[in-house]
Amino acid sequence: MDITKNKSLKSYNTFGINCSSSFFTRINNLKDLDELYQHQLFKSQKKLILGGGSNILFTSNYDGLVIKNEIKGIEVIKETNDIVEVQIGAGVNWHKFVTYAVNNKWGGVENMSLIPGNCGTAPMQNIGAYGAEIKDTFISLNAYQIETGKVISFDRKKCEFGYRESVFKNDLKDQYIILDIKLRLQKKPILNTKYGDISNTLIKNKISRPTLKDVSNAVIEIRTSKLPNPNKIGNAGSFFKNPIITKEQFKKIKIKFPEVVSYPVNEKQVKLAAGWLIEKAGWKGKDFGNFGVHKKQSLVLVNYNNANGKEIFDLSQDILEDIYNKFQVKLEREVNIF
Ligand code: FAD
Ligand code: NAP
Repeated sequence: MDITKNKSLKSYNTFGINCSSSFFTRINNLKDLDELYQHQLFKSQKKLILGGGSNILFTSNYDGLVIKNEIKGIEVIKETNDIVEVQIGAGVNWHKFVTYAVNNKWGGVENMSLIPGNCGTAPMQNIGAYGAEIKDTFISLNAYQIETGKVISFDRKKCEFGYRESVFKNDLKDQYIILDIKLRLQKKPILNTKYGDISNTLIKNKISRPTLKDVSNAVIEIRTSKLPNPNKIGNAGSFFKNPIITKEQFKKIKIKFPEVVSYPVNEKQVKLAAGWLIEKAGWKGKDFGNFGVHKKQSLVLVNYNNANGKEIFDLSQDILEDIYNKFQVKLEREVNIF
């Protein structure tokens, strides 16, 4: 078991924050984890499980043990004429898996092409994009209970998925290490192109009868044009979640701001586009030297050049307060703060 002291985390978080952890190790399989479980540092130190580091903001050095999950493997466990069930190691890169599925003509994850990070992290916040969420294809996951060292299986119900939420971000926060996930994909998929950007891109590319690959390519094209590439500009995607508010609250906002961008959730609730609120409040493209709000996407906070995490966190706090003062809407951070 290789445990490094004072490890730089700069290349392990897509914000590119220059910080370090007191201890750092990697796990490649359950045996590694069982071995680590016996180590005195596992018992004595605070622990952070790391995937691709694309949904994390470090506001200081991490005073504890970082465990980088590198459990690999993609295995078909069931196949019929209609579906295929696949078990995927937590350390497999999410987009690599999506590409594998799309190349095999298995549908269900194509709208989530190019989301950074790992498969094992995907259930943490029930990743989603363009009208698809991982919960729609999810069967179950296996996770290591940090306290007991037991492997526990969680089906969809036990994961308590919500909008960018799961039980692992709430009641069971910091209690489990996800080892692998099982998804059910469709061999005769119904494509979901209802998000305006996807249908507009397909029309622009003169594709009238899209395949899975066409949809995946359209998503990749849109994302590449709109979102900052973390390899060039540090970021962790959307910093805030879209707020879900009551219809009563929505009516009040609509009177003051008739152009507010919103989507119905159910009979009682409405989702507001947080990006619209932030842009309307004047934050889009704000540049504070080393960090700021992205020019094309106001939900994305960016590290232009060696900003520290605290500066970015403070910016997020200023935005939260300003949005509350202007719209009486409470934004919530999507990014995990350490
Ligand atoms: P990390 O940042 O490594 O970890 C995130 C959290 O999960 C941390 O709290 C960590 O401790 C915990 N964790 C990680 N692995 C495990 C594990 N195996 N067991 C237990 N806990 C674990 N998200 C979306 O939902 N939709 C998008 O469209 C989207 N687009 C993005 C675009 C960009 C450019 C970027 C940078 C990010 C985007 N994100 C999006 C956010 C991010 O990619 C996802 O949340 C992703 O699932 C994070 O995976 P990760 O492996 O990088 O997680
Ligand atoms: P967009 O297409 O400009 O739309 C703005 C917002 O409106 C989105 O956040 C989306 O909500 C919502 N929306 C748009 N069309 C909708 C519809 N037909 N039905 C319901 N809601 C709709 O968004 P974008 O910023 O370019 O992002 C595109 C997609 O990628 C979104 O799904 C977004 O969640 C995802 N994304 C996520 C992250 C992240 O880090 N979490 C980063 C980049 C992109 P939803 O967000 O609920 O879909």
